[in-house]
Amino acid sequence: MIAVAIDGPAGAGKSTIAKTIAKELAYIYVDTGALYRATALNALQNDIAPSEEEKITAMLKNTCIELRFIDGVQRVFLNGKDVSESIRTSEVSMTASKIAALPIVRSFLLDLQRDIAKKNNVLMDGRDIGTVVLPNAQVKIFLTASAECRAKRRYHDYLEAGNTSESYETILQDILQRDYQDSHRAVAPLKQADDAIMVDTSDDTLKESVEKIIAIIQGKI
Ligand code: C5P
Repeated sequence: MIAVAIDGPAGAGKSTIAKTIAKELAYIYVDTGALYRATALNALQNDIAPSEEEKITAMLKNTCIELRFIDGVQRVFLNGKDVSESIRTSEVSMTASKIAALPIVRSFLLDLQRDIAKKNNVLMDGRDIGTVVLPNAQVKIFLTASAECRAKRRYHDYLEAGNTSESYETILQDILQRDYQDSHRAVAPLKQADDAIMVDTSDDTLKESVEKIIAIIQGKI
């Protein structure tokens, strides 16, 4: 099996780029952030704060999170219910980043991610794929862009989706806070793997980023 790990901060374009490349190479695109988001949604629905570790531990005992691939498109299920859309709010993003710092949450989701990569050629995106989840991935990319550029892209995505309630400034602050939380946690922090290739997408169009990464993958495989 072939694994391409794509890690990087929020809003660097990982999912858009990875989805496009996965289609082109006929790999499965796995968005691991959805797993942390579904866990966060579960906590929010049960009124449990990310700081209440014991309650989270008890919650996980009764939690079933699954990824299903329907026509190659990932859907995430929380206790049998498709939550793929309801995990895409800023409240869930922020809670996911906080909950993702808990070792119990990370180990709960680890095998699920590894099992998918055992059975399929994958392009897997996240924060710790090249460092922890798939340290033997044949290709590792660290995708980044300036915080301002990432916030601008998110802002335009929201506008396109008809969401006008989030200001550019709030999105930028959320991104900076998540960057800090994700890269300063003790377990599996966001960081570039030693053998990952850094791609900065700040000045690139989607097409240019896709071409750069496909060239890297083809050069390695
Ligand atoms: O990628 P996305 O923004 O959907 O991820 C939501 C949150 O989940 C991130 O801010 C990060 O804290 C966490 N995450 C993680 N490890 C991953 C994927 C996501 O800690 N592999």
